[in-house]
Amino acid sequence: MSERKAFEVTPKEVEFSRWFDEVIFKAEILDERYPVKGMYVWLPYGYQLMENIMNVMERLLRETGHRRVYFPGVVPESVLGREFRFIKGFEDSIFWITALGRKKIQERLALRPTSEAIMYEVLKRWITSYKDLPLRIYQIVPVYRYETKATRPMLRVREIVFFKEGHTFHATYEDAVKQVDLEVEIYKKFYDELLVPYIVVKTPPWDTFPGAKYNYDIVTIMPDGKALELGSAINFGDLFAKTYDLVYMDQNGEKRYVNTTSFGISERSLAAMISIHGDNRGLKIPPKLAPIQVVIVPIPTKGYEDKVNEFSKSLHERLSSRFRVVLDDEDERPGFKFYRWEMKGVPARIEVGREETEKQFVTVARRDTGERVKINLSELEEELEKLFEDIEDTMKKQAENYFNERVYHAESIEEVKEHVTQKMVSFPWCGLDECGHEVEEEAGYGLLGYEEGYYEGSGKKCIVCGREAKHRAWIARSY
Ligand SMILES: [Zn+2]
Repeated sequence: MSERKAFEVTPKEVEFSRWFDEVIFKAEILDERYPVKGMYVWLPYGYQLMENIMNVMERLLRETGHRRVYFPGVVPESVLGREFRFIKGFEDSIFWITALGRKKIQERLALRPTSEAIMYEVLKRWITSYKDLPLRIYQIVPVYRYETKATRPMLRVREIVFFKEGHTFHATYEDAVKQVDLEVEIYKKFYDELLVPYIVVKTPPWDTFPGAKYNYDIVTIMPDGKALELGSAINFGDLFAKTYDLVYMDQNGEKRYVNTTSFGISERSLAAMISIHGDNRGLKIPPKLAPIQVVIVPIPTKGYEDKVNEFSKSLHERLSSRFRVVLDDEDERPGFKFYRWEMKGVPARIEVGREETEKQFVTVARRDTGERVKINLSELEEELEKLFEDIEDTMKKQAENYFNERVYHAESIEEVKEHVTQKMVSFPWCGLDECGHEVEEEAGYGLLGYEEGYYEGSGKKCIVCGREAKHRAWIARSY
């Protein structure tokens, strides 16, 4: 097999879904060959990448006063079933434990579909007074949903491995509103660091999360023109607290219901990053998140093998204190190594040959542009730092262009219909349900949500009824 062939993938522009599956396998993110549909094995490289991503989220959460906890992964039916509206959104997708060993179980246990019920059951003991509020906690745990639609690695799975769910508890509704705004800000910072472009929309009333007052979704667009929901921030008001009897004593000694919110993200964040930035050579990873930032590849010529290897080793040692760096001194041809590390999306590759050892410089190839630059040994670290900043800027601009090419701002229903098969389409909306439904029916897809008050006072007209438009609504095919 030729070196190129081993890392060949279906071109992204030809068939995105095959490209995605091939790249995540060849880059050693996931192994799909597990005998349970919709569940996948995370490989060391993929796991490390996901950990780096989760570290960004954890940092943002800690900075804003959220603390990590762990709640058990199973919930008794009587606890889960207490919230009928909530269960209604999930009932067909719950994994049930119905036996313990050889004995049939008295009361079925659900494998964590999400943790509201699990937590509220305990939290009513933690929260008794206004002094216990606000309370902000999160956990990173697997959740289980029996997806009936076709499963896809990271995108539609039955075991979400990296489910980061935050749950917060507040004295007043206003505090919960502020918290949800904070959650949206956290998401924005998070996806900015991943260099993933997005919109933030409020979901229409007919599509609000079961049991919620309202929720925001953060949404991106994939290379195939389909929208991908990346996270939600949900305000439950006191609706859940009423069901679970979650009350606190206020300053006047009166009993009040707690106001709650929740927000979650998953490995879909990585799927978006891979899909938006990757190319036909494989992944492109922002340097800050890359499990390996620099790979050193010795290119020995006859008679200079020892010198080249020594030089490579000393470079490896020198750079290890500042960067995540690997020396690839396997007994393989350099060309093969180039393809392998490109597939894995390592931002910088240092090539070391005879000339480099003699003249004390290195040749650095950038993964984002393929460009090669020469760097003097004396300023190697500083120049690499600068290079990483430049790679990040370039990737950011690429992502912006990518996004702008895939959205369309429609001014009529005809335009919505024309573009919705390819792009994520916005349109001016008055906010009335019947106008929203009309666009959904005409386009054949559901609204993603709307940017509240975006067109207020702008003079724009609703594309259905011609009344003054209030919001910018978004519609697309979606995952
Ligand atoms: Zn209207």
